[in-house]
This record gives sequence, structure tokens and C-alpha cells, in this order.
Amino acid sequence: MTSEANADIDARARERLRSDEAAMTGSRRKSSLPLSGAWREFWRHPSPWFIGTTLVGALVARLVVGDWRLTDAIVPVIMVASFPFAEWIIHVFVLHWKPRRIGTVTIDSLVARKHREHHADRATCRWCSSPGPH
Ligand SMILES: [Zn+2]
Repeated sequence: MTSEANADIDARARERLRSDEAAMTGSRRKSSLPLSGAWREFWRHPSPWFIGTTLVGALVARLVVGDWRLTDAIVPVIMVASFPFAEWIIHVFVLHWKPRRIGTVTIDSLVARKHREHHADRATCRWCSSPGPH
């Protein structure tokens, strides 16, 4: 991809992100999505089905094996509690990595470039698990 094409994607992504943030926090805030609507939208994406299938498979395997321990209950609670923070950290520091120059070398990861493309055109996010800006 050319540097002009990357600059265009970056500009569109910045504008889209600014618009999304204004819609969420600004005075022109859109009405919120009801929980039932978010729930329906969530299940229209493939990742909840992948995660749900894996969870059911793991539960069935655990039931077959038996030998329940306290950690079988604690580990999932810790994972569910920590996941939003891990997701946020990855999103902010990895997906929203801004290109940085070190001498003549520009460091700009493929995943960050793809994420900027997604912000420029949300239709490219077919693997997203939830509605709204990501
Ligand atoms: Zn994002």
C-alpha cells in the first residue's frame, strides 16, 4: 500500500474516531442502545459463537473428567473480571498504536494499520463481537 493510501486511511480513521467519540460523549449524544438490542447484536457476530462453543466443550470435558476443585470456580471469575481491563489495554496500546519514527525507520504494525482501516470503514470489521466503535 502506498504512503498516500495509508495517509488517507489514517485521516479517515481519525475523523471517524473523533465523530464516534463525539457521538458517545458530546452534546449531540445519540440515544443509548438498550441492553436487549446490544444482546441481539452481540449474537449476530461469529466470536460469541466461537467462545460459547469452546466454553461448552470445556465444561463438558470437565464434567466427564470430574475431580472438581475450588480453582475450577475461581479461575473463570478472575478471567471474567480481568478481561475488560486486558481488552482495554490491548485496544489502546496495541490496536491504536500510532506510527513512530526511529531514525529512518517507521514502526507501524500491521494490526494497528488494519485497525485504523476498520475505524475508517467499520464494515471491514467482520470479526467484531459487539456494536459501536472499537
Ligand atoms: Zn479502535
